[in-house]
Amino acid sequence: MSLRNSKTGKDKLDRVIAEARQDSEKRDHSYREQALKLYPWICGRCAREFTRKNLIELTVHHKDHNHDNNPTDGSNWELLCVYCHDNEHSRHEEELKRGGAQMSVKQTQAATHKPFSNLGTMIKQEKPSHK
Ligand SMILES: [Zn+2]
Ligand SMILES: [Zn+2]
Repeated sequence: MSLRNSKTGKDKLDRVIAEARQDSEKRDHSYREQALKLYPWICGRCAREFTRKNLIELTVHHKDHNHDNNPTDGSNWELLCVYCHDNEHSRHEEELKRGGAQMSVKQTQAATHKPFSNLGTMIKQEKPSHK
């Protein structure tokens, strides 16, 4: 008689391997977790604060818009709420459309001095109503 040792038991190794596999799958998204660890959960634009409840609305923005650029020090990441993130990207697209990713188009140099108003030289012409 042979005792069938059907007790397989959960192999710890299996679990470790599974976790490792998951890990590599998650690598693409891990920058989000890293960023969330690095930075306070606050939108960098509107300063909205986040908790675990609404954390899903907090996104990781890539400052140079290159999602493959993920330095571990977080220098390319910025936490933005979905609205501000959306905003940021549409603004970026606008800039690209305008030809050139130049962010330094400042039009704040509007002239502060008003053009002379020639009030004093206005000539009132009273037309004589001869007939
Ligand atoms: Zn925001
Ligand atoms: Zn982004």
